[in-house]
Amino acid sequence: MKNYYSMSFDDLSKVFDTGVNGISNKEAEVRLRKYGFNDYEPPPKERIIGRIFKQFRDISMIVLLVAACISLIMALRDGSGFIEPIVIFGIMIMNMSLTIIQERNAEKAIDELSELNTPNCIVLRENSRVVLSKSQLVPGDIIYLQSGDLVPADARLIECTQFEVDESSITGESESCEKSSEVIFNENIPISEQKNMVFSNCHVTKGKATAVVISTGMKTQIGKIASMLNQSKKEITPLQKKLNRVVNFVSMISVAFSAIMFLFGLIRGENIWNMFLTMILLSVAATPETLSLIVTLSLTRGVKNIVKIHGLVRNLHAVETLGSVSVICSDKTGTLTQNRMEVKKIWIEDDEIFGSNDKFNEKRSEFVRKLAMASNVDLNLENNTVANPTEMAILKLFFNVKEKIEDVYLKVHEVPFTSERKMMSVVFRNNKENNFLILTKGALDKMSFEEANTKKIENVHDDFTKNEALRVLALGSKIVEKFDPSSSDFNNSFLETGLKFEGMVGIFDPPKNDVKISVETARKAGIKVIMITGDHVNTASAVAREIGILDGVTNVISGEELKNMSDEELYRNIEKYSVYARVLPEDKYRIVQAWQKHNHVVSMTGDGINDAPALKLSDVGVAMGIAGSEVSKNASDLILTDDNFSTIIQSVREGRNIYSSIQKTVCFLITCCCTEIIIMIVPQILNWGILMSPIMLLLIDLLVTGLPSLFFAREVSEENIMLNKPIDKNSSILSRVFLSKLLVQVVLTSISVILSFYIGRFISVSQSVYPDLKVAQTMSFLTLGISSVLNIFVIVSKSGILNHNWHTNPKLVITSFFTMFVLVIMVLFSNLGGVVLGSVSISFAHWVAVFCLSFVPLFLGEIIKTRLAGVAQ
Ligand code: ATP
Repeated sequence: MKNYYSMSFDDLSKVFDTGVNGISNKEAEVRLRKYGFNDYEPPPKERIIGRIFKQFRDISMIVLLVAACISLIMALRDGSGFIEPIVIFGIMIMNMSLTIIQERNAEKAIDELSELNTPNCIVLRENSRVVLSKSQLVPGDIIYLQSGDLVPADARLIECTQFEVDESSITGESESCEKSSEVIFNENIPISEQKNMVFSNCHVTKGKATAVVISTGMKTQIGKIASMLNQSKKEITPLQKKLNRVVNFVSMISVAFSAIMFLFGLIRGENIWNMFLTMILLSVAATPETLSLIVTLSLTRGVKNIVKIHGLVRNLHAVETLGSVSVICSDKTGTLTQNRMEVKKIWIEDDEIFGSNDKFNEKRSEFVRKLAMASNVDLNLENNTVANPTEMAILKLFFNVKEKIEDVYLKVHEVPFTSERKMMSVVFRNNKENNFLILTKGALDKMSFEEANTKKIENVHDDFTKNEALRVLALGSKIVEKFDPSSSDFNNSFLETGLKFEGMVGIFDPPKNDVKISVETARKAGIKVIMITGDHVNTASAVAREIGILDGVTNVISGEELKNMSDEELYRNIEKYSVYARVLPEDKYRIVQAWQKHNHVVSMTGDGINDAPALKLSDVGVAMGIAGSEVSKNASDLILTDDNFSTIIQSVREGRNIYSSIQKTVCFLITCCCTEIIIMIVPQILNWGILMSPIMLLLIDLLVTGLPSLFFAREVSEENIMLNKPIDKNSSILSRVFLSKLLVQVVLTSISVILSFYIGRFISVSQSVYPDLKVAQTMSFLTLGISSVLNIFVIVSKSGILNHNWHTNPKLVITSFFTMFVLVIMVLFSNLGGVVLGSVSISFAHWVAVFCLSFVPLFLGEIIKTRLAGVAQ
């Protein structure tokens, strides 16, 4: 391999056929075809045969296989026909197919998600800087990197200022590595010493740089070890873990009761093989094995819904945590406000306050010139798309007053803006006067001026911030004779002290339109909204008051006051504050910690590289898709593709909704399992015989719990879901309401089924069909099937089935009726039912009894539900 680190830019340009204008779009297309997309190859998809074998890791599948084999042996030995083993094998295959289809759906949704999640980068193409998806990069592209970026490909640096990269993912080195663009002449040096190279997937922690891409995709250093990345294990969410515990518990109960039933059967002298078969099939039917899969499907559905409302959930776990969020800490600029900044007010000493559309005399124009020179934008480019909104506002003012910078000025140095320092400085060499002009702009309270009318400045500052909610930037200047950026004598404190006050601008950044409503929605939903900003206390308070975050109950605290508070004090007083102003990104970490100590589930927003620790610590870290750095996106659970606070609130609604549909699924599946256990065991104890053939039980399990429950997740959000309190993260998945629904429906359904068995077995209701075990089994099969389907309606509707909005989830209704229809048809066509299920024809009177008993759990369940709701209120 060539040592790109020992090549000069000219050599690199020749090798990659590139130059100071970058490559052309046409050439990029050619290279894209040649080298492929700049992506890591996904792990090979699991083959269908592998998926089938994987199913046998599931204990219920093994049990089903054993049951099918036993029934096959019995058929061969007793000559009792092959229908039973065929049906069990058939059910096994259907079960397997359903599981594989569901698994594929879930995987597809997760793949789609990672495609949406590809980072962007700034590239030079045909002499223009453009923002492209990282996948589009090709060798020879010139890229621009800055603090917070994720290096998109392996590249050789050609220019850099104070540039540092975290290469721990490649070299294991935890400290950031300082880079330079100097050619390295040594041969074969290790990656950690290749100081003029940057490697894909590493984070830029400081400074900015320009680089030439040398390799992309699987050819990059990280690509070569991508097979390791591919091996990452699939994550199981805490909710899935909780549910697995529920499944295990119910499975244990079902196995124990199946064994008891087996013993009773033996005591009563039933055929041992028949009883064994019934036992194992009951334990399969009464195990809610599909639960975990249905939960994954529900969560991925939540992810898809959140994409529609401009959120990108980076892991499934976040969907369930969103429903429990009780505190949202949000940045102000760009999240609560529009980030469409505009200079509204300007003031220079010895002048009155004026607006950007007022008349500009020479003094005013000179101020605007200097302010624009103190920014980091290219003053020749009117449509500078990559500048930040604050700088854009200044650029707009500069072009509005039709100013130009004199040729005598040459920019020689820049100290970039950081949220920590809250200011930036620029040094120009004045070639005419042979001296240097230093310009510093930033937050007034962070700058120090030598010659200034402090009282007057403070009054104007108060007016801009308190009365007009403006974001204020002050400008200072000084002229020095000597300046050398490479000497430590000319450090930041040299540049930024002893400045002459030049003036101030007030920038207007209005709140987003829907933010006030969203803050109100959050309040009603029991969620506290906290504003955290680097802006001034007055500006922050004014904006917070306007959007309803400051409501007279809570207070504002400044970064300075926060610094003087111990963690213990902050913990004790945290509930008092809803606005944090002039804070540092590091303070966010302490704020999250304090709220979490109060057992709150905290969501924190962030955009900068220094926000990453707080985003990671919070329960739902939220990054900005447009203005956020790649580092913050990488540390987050949710990315807002529209940078809008309201999206967080809508995502919380979705999280709550998904949790509620999972609760309904769990409640329904466990109701079915518990009912099946009770109805199979009670007639045994009473010595009435086996209530239902094992095939009947399996078919009900497959149809009733397999089909309609897939559509529980499609339930549209309950109207008042945002009027409830946040979901308690420690509460059981089955809340008291669902537990009482479960108990009521289990008892009512079990009684109905056992009664219908009793009627069929012992009561003569028809002249043509006499009481008999087969008649009883047919009746209990129908009653269990129909009443279980009807239970769906009782469990899904919160405020009564007549009040529920069923047309929002037609698939649930259709599959429910379809399931009932199939069950009835199987019995009605006695040939079909007889062969497959072992059912018999029943009389009209039996059908009437079946339908009446099937509807009893629905009617009584509804009455009890409304009564219980009345008591709860
Ligand atoms: P948030 O944390 O809500 O995004 P913010 O964007 O207002 O807050 P910072 O960007 O840290 O916070 O800005 C803090 C202060 O720094 C501003 O009030 C302003 O005075 C100053 N400032 C912001 N941007 C610049 C800039 N580009 N150049 C100089 N000073 C700036």
